[in-house]
Amino acid sequence: MAAQQDRGRAEDAIFIADILLAQNKAKEAKGTATSATGSKFNVRWVEKDVEGRPLLKRNRSGETRKRASTTVVSVVSSEDATPFEEVPTVTQSNCSQQLFESEMQKLQNILTSADVQGPNNNPSTSTSWCLRQSVAQDEWRKARSYHINCLLSCNVVPEGSCSYCSSPAIIRCRDCMPQEWLCMDCDIHIHKKLTLHNRESCIEGIYKPIEPAVCCVKKDGRYTLVSQESAGRAVILVCINGRYDLHMPNLQCRLCLAHWTPDMSDLIRSGYWPASVNADTLFSVDVFGTFEEMKTVAPSLSRQGFLRMLERRTCHFGRAGKIHGDVFQRSYMEYTFCQYQCEKKWPV
Ligand SMILES: [Zn+2]
Ligand SMILES: [Zn+2]
Repeated sequence: MAAQQDRGRAEDAIFIADILLAQNKAKEAKGTATSATGSKFNVRWVEKDVEGRPLLKRNRSGETRKRASTTVVSVVSSEDATPFEEVPTVTQSNCSQQLFESEMQKLQNILTSADVQGPNNNPSTSTSWCLRQSVAQDEWRKARSYHINCLLSCNVVPEGSCSYCSSPAIIRCRDCMPQEWLCMDCDIHIHKKLTLHNRESCIEGIYKPIEPAVCCVKKDGRYTLVSQESAGRAVILVCINGRYDLHMPNLQCRLCLAHWTPDMSDLIRSGYWPASVNADTLFSVDVFGTFEEMKTVAPSLSRQGFLRMLERRTCHFGRAGKIHGDVFQRSYMEYTFCQYQCEKKWPV
């Protein structure tokens, strides 16, 4: 009996020595792993018998392996942790499930603590963001009725006078702000040069967008819209506000009174690019730049989609007409290639 007890003590001592060796190896392994990949959590599972004693690693055959059930403990290779940390699991099959649940509980605690006030009683980031959103929503709600009244007043045509003379205003041009109200004569005089302004007529108290070549005249005591005659060559201009059907201007020198029409070099210097060698259609270079930027920030945007947007703006301002995709593509590619050639010749 005494010999059997001595044998048991010796086996226990051997087992503890094994544990210590395993701990030293784990510490060394942790040191190398930490230097390479940061901190690492190593766990080794040790089986225990029904009385809570660890099972001997050596001599696992025979009576020492005969046991009714086993418990599992973990050996944590952490410098500040105890060598044996009891894991509240019974078998290794469900220990991973319990570990998963405990980690999920820790994560939930972290998320919960982020929603409450911190130790210095300052609101957390998420809470302050919610507060800002709530305050902004309240401010918008309070100002909503005022904004609606302003929008409604935009559709009311006031009976005012021209911004330049005392005649009654019949044309509104928001591009001429703050002098947006114009009579018939002032409208023709001002927009003879500012052809690309988007104007609206105010006949009979209704705003109606009008084309650049249309002006307002008074016939039989009533205002009516008529198209202006132009001697210049017809040309289509496409800019960021859509398509304009215009005529080439006839220019005149103030000193020698010489007349001429802008040629291709004048158009290119003015920021336009021809859609063909005849320059029947012109694209504003700004349209090419906008298309390039939109393709950069939104590559999925199609060329057709961009041109449909331009056509919708055309209709919005009271004009009409299609913009052909093939013509736009050819002109854009030619412009891009010419620009590339220029950059090669004059590198900046
Ligand atoms: Zn006027
Ligand atoms: Zn204007």
